[in-house]
Amino acid sequence: MRQQRLLNPTLRDVPGDAEATSHRLMLRAGLIRQLSSGIYSYLPLGLKALQHIQTIVREEMDRAGAQEMLMPALHPAELWKASGRWDVYGPELMRLEDRNGREFALGATHEEVITTLVKDEIHSYKKLPVTLYQIQTKYRDERRPRFGLLRGREFLMKDAYSFDRSASGLDASYQAMFNAYVNIFTRCGLQFRAVEADSGAIGGTDTHEFMALADVGEDTIVHCPSCQYAANLEKANGVIANESTSSTNVPHAQPTKVHTPGVTSIKQLSQFLTTKPQQIIKSVAVQADGAPVIVLIRGDLEINEIKLKQVLSVDEITMLSEAEIKALGSIAGFIGPVGLSTVKLLADTSIRGLNNAVVGANEADYHLQHVDVQRDLGALTYVDVRNVGQGESCIHCGHELAFAKGIEVGHVFKLGTKYSESLGASFSDENGISEPMIMGCYGIGVSRVLAAVIEQHQDERGIIWPNAIAPYSIHLLTVQVKDEAQMTLSEEIYHTLTSAGYSVLWDDREERPGVKFNDADLLGFPLRLTVGKKTSERIIECKERRQGDVYELNVEQLLTHCQSLFN
Ligand code: ATP
Ligand code: MG
Repeated sequence: MRQQRLLNPTLRDVPGDAEATSHRLMLRAGLIRQLSSGIYSYLPLGLKALQHIQTIVREEMDRAGAQEMLMPALHPAELWKASGRWDVYGPELMRLEDRNGREFALGATHEEVITTLVKDEIHSYKKLPVTLYQIQTKYRDERRPRFGLLRGREFLMKDAYSFDRSASGLDASYQAMFNAYVNIFTRCGLQFRAVEADSGAIGGTDTHEFMALADVGEDTIVHCPSCQYAANLEKANGVIANESTSSTNVPHAQPTKVHTPGVTSIKQLSQFLTTKPQQIIKSVAVQADGAPVIVLIRGDLEINEIKLKQVLSVDEITMLSEAEIKALGSIAGFIGPVGLSTVKLLADTSIRGLNNAVVGANEADYHLQHVDVQRDLGALTYVDVRNVGQGESCIHCGHELAFAKGIEVGHVFKLGTKYSESLGASFSDENGISEPMIMGCYGIGVSRVLAAVIEQHQDERGIIWPNAIAPYSIHLLTVQVKDEAQMTLSEEIYHTLTSAGYSVLWDDREERPGVKFNDADLLGFPLRLTVGKKTSERIIECKERRQGDVYELNVEQLLTHCQSLFN
């Protein structure tokens, strides 16, 4: 391709609201343009990169035995009503009406459509298992579309759905998709972790999210630098040092009331008593499906609502009001476990073994000091209901856990029979008995992957494409396009390389060399070849974008050199 004619409007400055690095670079390098909030056009170079990702996704899906198909983006509301999601999906689902007032949704995901299709077309165990996928545009009216392609309202997704006759069949289908995802993200050049995620449902089944590590990521992941353990913060478990120690055999001072007027927060209390938040036990009063519960947790840590819901097997957790706390015989801001026998107590394992701790005294303006958990609080029910904190160690190998920010690029999920039951997708087994199909669903944010790749591969000068994704492998620059010899040699090189199968963008624009070099760094193709001063000697300059190495090469050596770089 000759750059002179390419639609590639590069920019020096980008709008101030483009916060994410990938978003800024994609605008500057002329890869995308915004049509409306969260809605983008792909210009030629952006589309090429996106297509390279799609090719990788297709190859790995096909290799895993999945079959490609394509479903509509426009879904009749009846399907979503049948699954119950018309009401529960909420405002993220884009809804519209046709001329006759019939309701439709723009597909945010395709469980309803695929399950209905499979229900109509597959009836026997003989046709199972089957995994179907598509690469298709999805619509979600995100509350905060931002970061360019990272969170769009119209975006490209690969979604796959597996249908099995047994739980062990689902395990195999899931594992095949999991492995395909590892291959896809590795080939895209992403640094990623597959993390255990929360399935939302109580007692939920397996689900993993694939997280590309990047500071701009909106998810926090907890991982062990020593073993394979990695999980979302909502799901992660860790071990706190004091959990396993207990020093009740050392005699301590007895619990003593201390006057703490108006001191209700952990921060205030820790300053007032000059004690660390780690020595304070927070008593959090909640209503769990209507019943009051007091959760005890170390002062520096936070309750994880998802874990708490699972531990209590409830759907809803709200905070108790001041009046409700009073009715329990305590007072807001000064709640504590000592002497509060009427209400269910639950202790996070972070307080196990604590001594010389501070708790609320269930009396306005008073706390209790010198509390020894084992001695003074008696037999408690210990559970893990906290967000893992700094300094905790791995439950598998004991190494200190690390925290990182991640972009969710993919998600694999064991759905079970939720949709096959509500939409009636069943098969008959060898004995003619009808059973619901067991499903899995598997998504990849294809356009989000593109942005994630750029987040991880860039420097202050521009993008540094991984070879597999780069819109073009080689950027050929002619310094003086008015110089006939330079143009002739460039043409020869262009021909040689493209005939050998390399993709080449030829910068034949009548621009100052500085502009061309800057644009080449910004566009970031793996290899830049410059035809200039040494044209008569048939010597060109090479620059590898990633390493930054600059060296000269005789044109005759070029093909061998490219082979060693790209193959
Ligand atoms: P998120 O928590 O980021 O909103 P999600 O849990 O809603 O993601 P899924 O419903 O599992 O996402 O969708 C499958 C994949 O689609 C995600 O793993 C992600 O890569 C991608 N994706 C989801 N929402 C968007 C979006 N608004 N823009 C771009 N990609 C998205
Ligand atoms: Mg979402």
